[in-house]
This record gives sequence, C-alpha cells and structure tokens, in this order.
Amino acid sequence: MNKKDLTKRKSLLKSIRNLANITKTKAKEEKLICKSCKREVSGNNLHICPYCDSYMPMSGEDRFELLLDRGYSSINFGSKHLNPINFPNYKNKKIKGLDEAISIARGTIEGSNVVIAVLEHDYMMGSMGTYVGEELTKMIEYANRKRLPIIIVSVSGGARMQEGIFSLMQMAKVSLALSNFSESGGLYISLMTNPTMGGVSASFASAGDINLAEPGARIGFAGPRVIKETLHEELPKGFQSAEKLLEFGFLDMIVERKNQKEVLGKILKLHRGDNGRI
Ligand SMILES: [Zn+2]
Repeated sequence: MNKKDLTKRKSLLKSIRNLANITKTKAKEEKLICKSCKREVSGNNLHICPYCDSYMPMSGEDRFELLLDRGYSSINFGSKHLNPINFPNYKNKKIKGLDEAISIARGTIEGSNVVIAVLEHDYMMGSMGTYVGEELTKMIEYANRKRLPIIIVSVSGGARMQEGIFSLMQMAKVSLALSNFSESGGLYISLMTNPTMGGVSASFASAGDINLAEPGARIGFAGPRVIKETLHEELPKGFQSAEKLLEFGFLDMIVERKNQKEVLGKILKLHRGDNGRI
C-alpha cells in the first residue's frame, strides 16, 4: 500500500471512530427519574436535575469521562466473585452491563497521573463485598508500587449483607492497604457522593488525606430512620448532609460536579514530584 492510500485509510478509520463516538453519546441520552422531585430528566453529562438541582448517581464510565483526560485505560485486577456464606440465590450476574460494584481506571487529570476507583450505584447500591474489597486493595497496592496518587469516588449502601462477616472484613483489609500506602507517602483523595453509608463511610471513604464530597450528599453510618427509631428523638436539620459534616470538620471541601476536574487537578499538581509521580 502506498503512502497516499495509507493516509486515505487512516482518515476513513478516523471518521468511523468519530461516528461510533456519536452513537455512544446518543445512547447515553437516556431518560432518568429524579429521586428527589420525581420528574423525568433527559440524561446529561453531569446528571444533575434541572428542576431541583439534586445530584443523581453517575456510573464509573461517566465519572471517568468527567474527571479524566482523554486516553485513560480501564483496569481490572481479576478478583474472584465469591459467595462465601452460600447466601441463597446470590451469584454474580451482570447488572446494567456491570460485572461488580466497582470500576477502576488509570489516567491523568489535567496532566497529573492518577489511579481512580468509582463504586457503581447501579450494582447492588455500590455495596462492598469481597470482590470490591479485593479490587480496592489490589488497586492501592498497585498505586503504591507505581508511586501514583489515588482517588476513590464512593457511593454505597455499605457492606454487602449477602457476604456477611466477609464484607465487614473488607473494611479492615482496605484500611490496612491504605495505611501502608500512606506510610510510603502516597496521596489518597476521597470523594464521597450521595449516599455514602455503613461500612464504606466507616472505612476507606472517610480515610482520605483529603476528604471531598458532592453537594447534598448523605454521608453516615446507619440511616436516619434507624437512628430516629433507636433514639426516639427528632434528628437535627441537615443530619448526615455533606454541608453539616463540613461544618463539623469531617470534610475538607464540598465540590460541585462542574468544578471537580479542576479541583482534583490542582490538588494532584500541588502534590506532584518532578517526575510526575508522588
Ligand atoms: Zn429533581
């Protein structure tokens, strides 16, 4: 093939790829129902309700598109799907195209290297079982070896009850990996989104060197209904909201979706060594 033909072929391939991207974007424009105001919302990249401004869940892929520069790559550390307590009718199955409740990618944010994990709301409410715990641990160890900073975007109902104590054990396992990572000088940024609850909020989600949250995110351990019924008391206004937690010093900053890439980019740049790593 001569050079002219090759150039022609390349340009044809490029236009096919562009077309594929357009189709992909169109497919994403699904209708969503806002949980706060119950109105139907046409899918947009930021998944924010135009009527009541509440933040709707975002998939890992959408988060990567929002936060990472072009050319990131997905990573899977090959953890196994288990049913450690033989919970009836509990077996790994794809939910909305997802293998499990976590997606991981390596890429850059405004030019700074990073490894990022996103819990998947659509897969059993982002709950953490052995698979999620193992993938997170391997990701942290990987980032430690490569001297890369990490970001974990949490959304979770907590530890997954179908795996019993094995889910709870992940809290300690991931926390230990984070502690080793921290001792080696690693940078961990946690971004908590609505809702971040239970064993996830009580372990890695609140253990960031820098703890960020999205506006209006509910962050806590037990849900407000359980606490209210236990205490037989009215809960204060703004209970478990990101805004209240910021007031108490539990969070460092609340960051709107449209600013997240810029803020994360700045934090990463600030901690970056000369070789682009930490
Ligand atoms: Zn709404």
